[in-house]
Amino acid sequence: MEFDRLSHILWHGVTRQEVWSLLNTSQQGLSGEEALKRQDLFGPNELPKAQRKSVLTVYFHQFISPLIYLLCAAALVSILIGEVTDALFIFAVLQINAIIGTIQEWKAQKSAESLNAMVKNRVVVLRDGKRIEIDSAQLVPGDYAFLESGALIPADIRLIQSLEARADESLLTGESVTVNKGALEAIGEESAIGDRHNMLHAGTTLSQGRCEGIVTQIGLHTELGRIAQALQTTENAAPPLVQRLDKFTRSIGFLVVLAVVILGATMVWQGVSVKEVFFLAVALSVSAIPEGLPVAITVALSISSFHMSKRNVIVRALPAVEGLGACTVIASDKTGTLTVNELTVRRLWLAEGPELEVSGEGYSPKGEVDFKAARLAVAASLCNEATFRLEKEGYHHFGDAVDVAFLVMAAKAGLDRESLLERHPEHGFLPFESERKFSASINHFDDEALVSLKGAAEVIAPLCSNIKSEDILKRAEEMASQGYRVLALAQGSWSEDHELDALSGRKDLTFLGLAGLIDPLRPEAFDAIKKCACAGVGVRMVTGDHPATALALAKELGIAHEKSDVVTGAELKDLQDDPINLAETIHSARVFARVEPVQKLNIVQSLQENNHFVAVTGDGVNDAPALRSANIGVAMGKEGTDVARGAADLIITDDNFASIVNGVEEGRIAYANVRKVIYLLVSTGASEIVLFFLCLISGMPLPLFAVQLLWLNLVTNGVQHVGLSLEKGEGDELHDPPRNPKMPIFNRRMIEEVVISGLFIGIVAYLFFQYALANGFDEASARSSLLLLMVLFENTHVFNCRSERKSLFKMPLLRNPILVMMVILTQAIHIGAAYVPGLNTTLNIQPVSLDQWLTLLPLALGLIVVMEIYKWLRR
Ligand code: ADP
Ligand code: MG
Repeated sequence: MEFDRLSHILWHGVTRQEVWSLLNTSQQGLSGEEALKRQDLFGPNELPKAQRKSVLTVYFHQFISPLIYLLCAAALVSILIGEVTDALFIFAVLQINAIIGTIQEWKAQKSAESLNAMVKNRVVVLRDGKRIEIDSAQLVPGDYAFLESGALIPADIRLIQSLEARADESLLTGESVTVNKGALEAIGEESAIGDRHNMLHAGTTLSQGRCEGIVTQIGLHTELGRIAQALQTTENAAPPLVQRLDKFTRSIGFLVVLAVVILGATMVWQGVSVKEVFFLAVALSVSAIPEGLPVAITVALSISSFHMSKRNVIVRALPAVEGLGACTVIASDKTGTLTVNELTVRRLWLAEGPELEVSGEGYSPKGEVDFKAARLAVAASLCNEATFRLEKEGYHHFGDAVDVAFLVMAAKAGLDRESLLERHPEHGFLPFESERKFSASINHFDDEALVSLKGAAEVIAPLCSNIKSEDILKRAEEMASQGYRVLALAQGSWSEDHELDALSGRKDLTFLGLAGLIDPLRPEAFDAIKKCACAGVGVRMVTGDHPATALALAKELGIAHEKSDVVTGAELKDLQDDPINLAETIHSARVFARVEPVQKLNIVQSLQENNHFVAVTGDGVNDAPALRSANIGVAMGKEGTDVARGAADLIITDDNFASIVNGVEEGRIAYANVRKVIYLLVSTGASEIVLFFLCLISGMPLPLFAVQLLWLNLVTNGVQHVGLSLEKGEGDELHDPPRNPKMPIFNRRMIEEVVISGLFIGIVAYLFFQYALANGFDEASARSSLLLLMVLFENTHVFNCRSERKSLFKMPLLRNPILVMMVILTQAIHIGAAYVPGLNTTLNIQPVSLDQWLTLLPLALGLIVVMEIYKWLRR
C-alpha cells in the first residue's frame, strides 16, 4: 500500500465493502502493529507547520526602525569626518541591541510554539478491536475512527455509519450552511466536495450527530492538505496591548524628538558645533525613546503565558493574558467545571413503586440495586453511548459521565450493555445532544420492538401516559432541590410507521422512573469562589441542568442564596421582547439553569452591554459563538470539543474552575509587570531629558557625550526591564477589584510616578554635575562620575519599580534573583569598562574608586527614599 495508489482512488465513489478491502482493514480495526507500520510508511497525520521566522530574519528585523536608521546615519557621518572609533562604537551598540532584541523575540516565538504544541487534538479509533484515544497526528489510512458532534475532523474519512450527522465544511467549500452526512453508499465519482455526503473531510467540523468511518487519506494528501499552502499564511496580529504601546511609544517618541530639537537649536545658538549637536540629538533620542517597549511587553506577556501553563491554563491568544486580569465576571459551566463530573446513580424512584437507594461509590460495580429496577436499568443501558467493562487492568469506562453512571448502575444489577445488545439488537438510535436533552434507542425485544428513552424529566414526562406528568415533575423537582441531577426513563412500543423525528410528539410511552445522580462538587471550587469574591470578580453558573439542582449546588458553593437568584432559559425566552427587563434579569441572576447553548451568547452579550468584562467557559459545539464573543473564551481541555477549543482564547487543561481563578491571578500579575516595565523605561528616559535641559538653560557644558548616553542606555535599560517582567507577583493580586479595562496605562498614578522619579534623577544629577565642576573637577572626570551616578540611579530605580504600591522593603529580593544578578552584572560591566583599553577612551571614563562609589551611592539611594515617601503618602 502506498500513497500514490490511495490518492488515485475517489473514495466517495466506492462501496463500503470496497473501502474495507482497499485499505486492508477489518471490523476489529487495525492491529497496533499494523498501525505502527503504517505510521512509518505514511508519516504523521500533520500539515506542514507554518514557517517560523528564522533567527536571521528576526535579527534583521531588529534593524527596521527609524531610530536605528538615525544611529546608522550617525555612524556614517562619524566615518566621513574621520571619527572612526565613534563609528565603531555605534556599530557595536547596534549589534548588541540587535542581539538582545533577537534573543527576546526568539524566546517569545519559542514559547508561543511550545504552547501551541500543548493543544493536541485527540481522536477515538478502533485498534485490536478496542476503542482507544490517540493523538490525531498518529492516525493512519485504514484506521476506524469514531467522531462526535464538536469534533474537528482529523483526516479524510469514508463513512461507514452515521447518526443525524451534519458537518460544517465552510473551510473547504465556502458554504456556511452545514451539510448532511450519511449517504453511505457509493455516489457519483464526479460529485463536488460539498456533495460528498459519505465523506468527512479533514479540517471541517462535525456540528451534530455521531459518525464512524475509515480514514482514507491523511496529512497533505487530504483535500485540506491540497490547499494547505493557502492556510499557512495567516499571521497572528500583535496583541492590542502591544499595538496600543506601539502607538504610545510613537507619541513619546514625538515628544522626545520635539524636546531634542529645541535643545539642539538652543545648543547651536549657544555656539556648540553642529556636528556635536547632531550626535547628541541622535543619542538623546535613542536613550529617551522607549523603542524597546513593544518587544519588552510581548516578552512579559509570553513569560506570563508560560507561568499560566504551569497552572493548567494554556493561552491561545496572547491578549488573553492581560485580559483575564481585567475580567469582572466569570460565567462558568456547572458540570465538570464546578463539579468533578463523576456521576453516580444514587436514588431511583420507580413508577410503580417506592423510592430506592443505590449503594456503592464511583466507577466500581460493587453495590446493590433492587431487582425492581431491572427494567429501568435495561432501558438506561440501551439508550446509552458509553462503555463500561472489566479489562485486565480493572474496570474501564469510556464516554459521557451520565451514560457511564447508568452502565455502572446496571452492572450493580448484573447487567451489561454488550450482552443486552446481543439479546436486543438495535434498530435505531438518537444520540444525546444538549438541545434535545434526551437520547433514545430502538431495540428488538422477543417479538416486538421497543423504544427506550432517557433524558430531562420535563422532556420525557409529557410523552408518558401511565403516570400524570405533574406527578413526575413534582417528584423530579423534589429530588433536584436536594442537589441530585435528575433523569427520567421511559419505554414504548415501536412499529414500522413510527419515526424517530416524531418521537417528541408521542403521548403513549410508559414512564419507568426517575434516577437521581450525584456529582460531587470539586473541593477546590469553594476556595476559588471565595477568592473571586475577594477579587471583585462575579461568578455566574450557566447550566443545562434543572434549576433546583443548580440552585442546590450554587447555594453550597456560595454563588447563589435563594430561588430568585435563578433564572431559566425559558424565562429568558419569554422576556425576549422586553429588552430592558431582559437585561435587568440577566444582570441580577446568579444561576442560569436549563439554558440552551445558544442562549449563552445572549447572556454574554447582555453582561458585556452592562460594562462587564466577561470570561465564559464552554465545551460543546454550540458554545463556540459565546466563546468567541466573550472577552475571554475559556474552553475545557479534557471534556471540551475541538470546536470549542478552536474558538477559545484559553484552554483549561484540567477543566477546573480553580484554574480559571489562577489564570485571573496570573493575568493581573502580567498586567502589573507590564506597567512596571513601562514605569522604568519612561521615567529613566525622562530623567535624561531633564538633565540635559537643566544643564543647557543654566549655560553649563554638556553633561554627557553621545557615546556615554548610548552606553548608559545599553548597559542598564537594555537588560534590566527583562528582570522586571520576571516579577512573580506581590501576593495580593486577588485582593483588589478588577481594573477598568478602559483605563489607560498612563493613569494618574503612573504619571505621578514618572514625573517624580524622572525629575528627581534629572535634578540630582544636574546638581551633582554643577557641584563637581565648581569644586575643581575637570569636565572629563565630572562626566565620568556623572555617568556612574546615572548607572547607579537606574540600578536603584529598578527596585522602586518592583512594586507601584508596596514598600521596596516588603519585596523580598530573593523572589526575583535574576533581577538582582542583572543589577550586579551591570555594575560590574560599567566599572570594568574603565579598564578595557579602547573602550575606556571611547567612553571617556575613568576608573572608579571605592570612595567615589560610596559617595555616589547615597545620592542614588535618595531616589528610594523619595519614592518610598510617595508610596506611603499614596497609601
Ligand atoms: P450541563 O450544562 O449540566 O452539562 P447538558 O446540556 O449536558 O447540561 O444537559 C442538559 C440536560 O440533558 C441534563 O440536565 C439531563 O437532563 C439531560 N442529559 C444530560 N446528559 C444526558 C445523556 N447522556 N443522556 C440523556 N440525557 C442527558
Ligand atoms: Mg453536559
